[in-house]
Amino acid sequence: MKKGVPILTFILSAVLIVLLYNICSGNGAASVTSHHQQGKVYKIVIDPGHGGKDHGATGASGRLEKDFTLQLARKVEELAKQEPRFEVYLTRTDDGFLSSIDRERPEFANQLGADLFISIHGNTYEDPSVSGTETYYYHEDSLSLAEIMQKHMVQANGFRDRGVKKEDFFVVKDTNMPAVLIEMGYLTNPQEEKEMLTEEVQYRMANSILDGIKEVLKLT
Ligand SMILES: [Zn+2]
Repeated sequence: MKKGVPILTFILSAVLIVLLYNICSGNGAASVTSHHQQGKVYKIVIDPGHGGKDHGATGASGRLEKDFTLQLARKVEELAKQEPRFEVYLTRTDDGFLSSIDRERPEFANQLGADLFISIHGNTYEDPSVSGTETYYYHEDSLSLAEIMQKHMVQANGFRDRGVKKEDFFVVKDTNMPAVLIEMGYLTNPQEEKEMLTEEVQYRMANSILDGIKEVLKLT
């Protein structure tokens, strides 16, 4: 024990000197903060609209919205695997039904403590000539997410820009983090549906969702 005391004192003194040096040179707290930011992993929830008995829209060809939304969400998940700063979580990974009465989709994101929530949909209208992309938000802190996602989406798919709209859809209203619902295009428009169902356009849209997320999180 007696021999140990001077060694301990020496070690403690050395630690103190290093700490003091870091504080005095001003790179202590600052470097810790920036390393923390660089290393932060963001939890992103992608919500494929509808599922199970809830088919969503029926497209011009008879294909269902619930299948389109899952295909696109899967591609976002796949591409995000190359991005170590993102952890992507899907509200459903198969043709399961999620209750809107129980608010399962926003609850999933709230429980997870997600950083962003993005709900994917395909639009429908009785007039098949109607076309374009629109993004919905509800809370003010979701507005910039909506504007950025809308910008990236129309760049990627080349569809008509129908703009950003405020609406009290429960998935964007009951989520505790910035949240948007994107209507990628009109599945009832034969030309738009055809494009939305191609692998090429789906990968472009999936990529642009990730580009939008990076811009929102200032990771570009
Ligand atoms: Zn929908």
